[in-house]
Amino acid sequence: MAINWTEAEIEEVVASVVKSLRGDAFAEKSEWDSKSYAGRRLIGVFDDMNDAIGAAEAGYKAVRAMSLEDREKLIAVIRTLCRDEAPVMAALGVAETKMGRVDHKTAKHILVADKTPGCADIVAQVKTGDLGLTLTEMAPFGVVGSITPSTNPSETVICNSIGMIAAGNGVVFNPHPNAIATSNYAVDLINRASRIAGGPDVLVSSVAKPTLETADIMYKHPAIRLLVCTGGPGVVKSVLSSGKKAIGAGAGNPPVIVDDTADIRKAGKDIIDGATFDNNLPCIAEKEVFAFANIADELIASMKENGAYLIDRATADKLADIVLVDKKNPKTGVVSKIVNRDCVGRDAQVLLEKVGIKVGKDIRCIICETDFAHPFVQHELMMPILPIVRVTGIDQAIDLACKAEHGNRHTAHMHSKNIDNLTRFARAVETTIFVKNAPSYAGIGFGGEGHTTFTIAGPTGEGLTSARSFTRYRRCVLAESFRII
Ligand code: NAD
Repeated sequence: MAINWTEAEIEEVVASVVKSLRGDAFAEKSEWDSKSYAGRRLIGVFDDMNDAIGAAEAGYKAVRAMSLEDREKLIAVIRTLCRDEAPVMAALGVAETKMGRVDHKTAKHILVADKTPGCADIVAQVKTGDLGLTLTEMAPFGVVGSITPSTNPSETVICNSIGMIAAGNGVVFNPHPNAIATSNYAVDLINRASRIAGGPDVLVSSVAKPTLETADIMYKHPAIRLLVCTGGPGVVKSVLSSGKKAIGAGAGNPPVIVDDTADIRKAGKDIIDGATFDNNLPCIAEKEVFAFANIADELIASMKENGAYLIDRATADKLADIVLVDKKNPKTGVVSKIVNRDCVGRDAQVLLEKVGIKVGKDIRCIICETDFAHPFVQHELMMPILPIVRVTGIDQAIDLACKAEHGNRHTAHMHSKNIDNLTRFARAVETTIFVKNAPSYAGIGFGGEGHTTFTIAGPTGEGLTSARSFTRYRRCVLAESFRII
């Protein structure tokens, strides 16, 4: 199904569902923590990682014993709860992490509910010939250890759970500490779905206090057969050094090229829609724009008509000193810039206030013209700030956009009607996702064809993960029989 909601439709759905929920308990810090929500103890959350792994092992055994039909019924309940409780998780996510937007996070959960593939994603392959029949099946790994980010916390827990359970696995999570209440709410949701559908009381598990130590226990535990890690470069590197089979979904810095054959007005709107989705938290969101010089003014005008606020270079530099901070490497003593966590995923209004500019709620993105070397271009900011670099033509655009992508091979975007230019950039940038003439979120099935995921595994090559990504291939040979032609 294609989801292509307007802002107004999203707001309407959110308003109606939020109204039907009990008060606004989620906004009160005292009402939730990593083990409970509104006075209810969350199911599947353990103090000790070893106990959490033990519970996930039991969950795995229960899933293995289920028929595919029962597994799919259980996933159907997960989808229903995810859709119904989308606004709760969205509000909790914003309240806990201080990042993103409730309306967009609600839409992200509904996307996960509707477009994460289930058991149908698991397909056997058959080869027949003179020597008989050989069957290749996609089998579960066993217990998966999953590390999840702060930017899409509950979305990733639910999306990964659906895919991993559909593939017949168990799963234990070591979520981001800054989003632990939201992530564990999602763990609880999966377990409630399991109880409703007649599955085990604890199907998936997590810990109350995730740390690097609990991640290490997970890496080393013999019951964990596959690690799936969604996050920045540090954690992807650590999981790939674990000595276990690992799927790594890492950082991006998606560039956008706009050439002079594009529908410029549409490009301006699409880029702002994509770059402001959940305040630019998604790893696929537009992070910097390379615009042909002859259309740059028209593009900026269209962006301004669609909620962008243009700041000058001096203000951009002032803002850069706030949203990026110095960090000293304790080993080498080298100081480098890192993103200020207090600014990630904040509203444009809040960020503008930091440089003394007051704007209304209609402003959803900050735009500025910069050169290529500007930190706004080079850093993955994950906030609604979009630098625009003027380029002389397609050669320079592709060269600079590829450099700004930093070889992550994650996501890139282009607005153009010139198929040669589109093809050249797609070939050169080699990203897992390449979106043409649409907002970035079309690349994960929101207003675009194809399934959704919040674990996009560029470094290890699985791409947009789904149930089949969490399987191992097993062959069964029947010699000299079962070929019926
Ligand atoms: P992060 O890297 O800070 O944290 C991700 C997870 O890794 C957290 O659970 C964290 O506690 C854990 N972690 C960090 N270092 C670790 C280590 N050395 N050992 C074990 N665990 C460790 O990520 P974040 O800020 O929550 O998310 C934003 C980043 O993740 C961005 O770079 C974004 O592009 C990326 N991301 C990628 C995808 C994708 O699908 N490719 C999806 C979402 C986010």
